[in-house]
Amino acid sequence: MELYKENQLKIYNSLTKSKELFKPLKDGYVGMYVCGPTVYSNAHLGNLRTFMFFDVAFRYFLHLGYKVRYVRNITDVGHLENDADEGEDRIAKKARLEQIEPMEVVQKYTVDFHNVLSQYNFLPPSIEPTATGHIVEQIEMIKIILDKGFAYEVNGSVYFDVLEYNKTNHYGILSGRNIEDSINNTRDLDGQSDKKNPQDFALWKKAEDKHIMRWPSPWSDGFPGWHIECSVMSTKYLGEQFDIHGGGIDLKFPHHECEIAQCKTWSGKDPVNYWIHTNMLLLNGQKMAKSTGNFILPGEILTGKNTILSKAFSASVVRFFNMQANYRSVLDFSSKALEASEKGYIKLMDAIKNLDQITPSKSSSIDVPSWRKKCYDAMNDDFNTPVLISHLFESVKCINQLKEGKEQISPDDLSVLKTTINAFVYDVLGLLNDVKEEEPSKADGAIELLIKLRKEARDQKNWALSDQIRDELAALGVQLKDGRDGTTYTTN
Ligand code: AMP
Ligand code: ZN
Repeated sequence: MELYKENQLKIYNSLTKSKELFKPLKDGYVGMYVCGPTVYSNAHLGNLRTFMFFDVAFRYFLHLGYKVRYVRNITDVGHLENDADEGEDRIAKKARLEQIEPMEVVQKYTVDFHNVLSQYNFLPPSIEPTATGHIVEQIEMIKIILDKGFAYEVNGSVYFDVLEYNKTNHYGILSGRNIEDSINNTRDLDGQSDKKNPQDFALWKKAEDKHIMRWPSPWSDGFPGWHIECSVMSTKYLGEQFDIHGGGIDLKFPHHECEIAQCKTWSGKDPVNYWIHTNMLLLNGQKMAKSTGNFILPGEILTGKNTILSKAFSASVVRFFNMQANYRSVLDFSSKALEASEKGYIKLMDAIKNLDQITPSKSSSIDVPSWRKKCYDAMNDDFNTPVLISHLFESVKCINQLKEGKEQISPDDLSVLKTTINAFVYDVLGLLNDVKEEEPSKADGAIELLIKLRKEARDQKNWALSDQIRDELAALGVQLKDGRDGTTYTTN
């Protein structure tokens, strides 16, 4: 039986602001759309946090046995400098500054994005459509919205009529705004705009003469607005209505609000059943963002080449650090926090290594089935990875006690323990055993030698000498632990 049949997954739906039982539109299938990167610069660690959460959600759906279609787009046109319809296209601007073709910018940063995701062990999405590859479909959707009277054309540009839409719908349903807030929060262009009202947004923009990124349309040679691409690509591949739409919390307004308005006028239906929004990664107490220069790149973490880092860290340590926080909470990045995650991560990996050295007994003194259930319950509670990790650490304690002979485990339970740990650590959290073993130091060698001499003393029943070695090492901060499989040590 598929695991999803015995697991009641609850998802926090940003639209209803409550945790809801996840019921896909089609039994056994999940359709998930996540707004992808705007490829005008390198993705920073904040972007990675959001994509990593959805990678783990994708992995969990697959683990539960769902057939998943995960669509994550590439924004390669239409995202202007300002999230309102002002300023230059981000990609066109970069192309102008670097004196290269816009498509060279797109290529360069798409390749970089894919490299980073593969370094960080992401699963590729099922479909990765581009905005420029769907210009025809965007024009078709705009035509329908115009026909239905929810948009208007001015000087070759087409704008969505928010006030008209709001007469029969609630513009602000997702972000919790009312129309007055939207008006107050939208900058007026001092009469420079063709818009009837400042809160209206562009579906199509007429290109200026020097603008290279342009396509013919019934209204002008121009380019699509930013929001229309996601309405088109999500519904094209997932249907007029689909299960999950995700992105960072900063996309709720205006981007996702506009997506809802476009889809509702186009199809008459609410497009998305569950909206999932991730919270922000902070650096120096501020949102990590390219525009403010307050960011660190995922590649810099792997090399340690950034002055805010004490050293290099592995991709899995960064994953572990991210997953130790709930995706709906802000997370503060620091080198110290990564160091703490690394310590915990090494403990977990050591315990997994030790799993192979455990000899099963006839029966168990620990309750493996209820521990396993707690792991699933954590993920079923809106993908609560920090709670899952706390249960994984519970198993670390158990494994160490089993190794020391303080607890017993039956062969069946040992097999469940191994499968569950491997499933959550590797398949669901997407971790790898990638922390490089540090070269044993001279001190480590000396301790190992003393352990060997102590064993010889014990074999010869020279208890005085064996106790002396143990006590003097303890006085130096080295604790010896005698277990079934020999003596190990920890240091303070
Ligand atoms: P962009 O390439 O700017 O469109 O952003 C790609 C994704 O990263 C979006 O879902 C954003 O919401 C998300 N994002 C941007 N900054 C951060 C941050 N500091 N922390 C977490 N997610 C972020
Ligand atoms: Zn989007």
